[in-house]
Amino acid sequence: MTITKQQIVQWLELSAEIFKNEQDFLTDLDREIGDADHGLNMNRGFKKVKEKLPSVADKDIGTILKTTGMTLLSSIGGASGPLYGTFFIRSAASVMAKEELNLAELTKMLQDGVDGIVQRGKAEVGDKTMVDTWNGILASLNTNQDITLYDALDGAVTDAEKAMKGTIPLQARKGRASYLGERSIGHQDPGATSTYLLFSALRSASAQ
Ligand code: ADP
Ligand code: MG
Ligand code: MG
Repeated sequence: MTITKQQIVQWLELSAEIFKNEQDFLTDLDREIGDADHGLNMNRGFKKVKEKLPSVADKDIGTILKTTGMTLLSSIGGASGPLYGTFFIRSAASVMAKEELNLAELTKMLQDGVDGIVQRGKAEVGDKTMVDTWNGILASLNTNQDITLYDALDGAVTDAEKAMKGTIPLQARKGRASYLGERSIGHQDPGATSTYLLFSALRSASAQ
């Protein structure tokens, strides 16, 4: 079982839809421990990605992801723009010229993207950022390489949700929320939440 280029495009379109619908939810989370713009940022960025997709939809997966990353870099401000931009640009490297991916290739693609986020943002697991959710996803996928691609993604969505909720009791050590010190405890991290939504969309697209 593989994920096709068409499903990758559907993933990005679905993400745009989800970030539109969840804009207020993400912004409300960011109002608690940030500057109330995360939903706005994600919606603005993925709206631009959706506009751009028709011009690259017939290209290979690497080109589609790279274009997505460049578009996010240039359209989202704040911390999350460069981080998600880097994620997609770096994830493109190993999937250039590919039209479909098996589970191992998809896992490598995501790992490369997350390595980019960590190199750029220097966050460690437990710092209460999107890295916590990505770490849950990768750990899950790495232990489930011998099941079908859809089942592996489905299991990783469950672990992503756990990791996202796991940010609630943590004190933030990176980004704006870290300025609040102990007052950041008790709130779910906005970026950990947008990563959960983005990855859920990948699972949904792979089922189509
Ligand atoms: P800003 O904080 O600049 O307004 P956003 O509100 O769009 O940007 O994004 C905030 C999210 O970015 C946080 O919830 C956190 O998950 C993530 N984030 C911030 N700094 C880092 C970092 N250094 N590494 C990883 N993720 C980070
Ligand atoms: Mg913000
Ligand atoms: Mg901001």
